[in-house]
Amino acid sequence: MSNMPGELHAFTDPPEPSAVARPSDARLISFDIDGTLEVGQPPGVIPLDVVRRATDLGFVVGSCSDRPIGFQRDLWAAHELEMDFVVLKQNLGSVRQAFAAGHYLHIGDSLIDRMVARESGFHFIHAVEDDVMGLLAALRLTPPASLGG
Ligand SMILES: [Mg+2]
Repeated sequence: MSNMPGELHAFTDPPEPSAVARPSDARLISFDIDGTLEVGQPPGVIPLDVVRRATDLGFVVGSCSDRPIGFQRDLWAAHELEMDFVVLKQNLGSVRQAFAAGHYLHIGDSLIDRMVARESGFHFIHAVEDDVMGLLAALRLTPPASLGG
């Protein structure tokens, strides 16, 4: 599926520069690790540059994985990425309670990811079945394909 669900349109609208700092307009992305990110086991399609760019652009960013919290923290430290949250998968709902944001998105590669996203009030992108890189490009989280027109 390469079409974008209608509910995601608001998420992909570029933020007003002045709006980024307003908590209620903040956009939050939760990344599963295994099968989703390039550093996962198995590796997923999403490069860490996407995660880095999201943090640089002011998104609230974190990981939500079955991996132990310590493993997740060590992973981000090793790649010098500062995460806003690190949670076990069943605790995604706590992220929604902890951060006031206008939009919540979880990206993962399993039925469990889809389920916890739905139960926690997150939009969901499937890292394998959806055109995840296309959707991330719509969020301006991937480098421009070329400098040409
Ligand atoms: Mg996974």
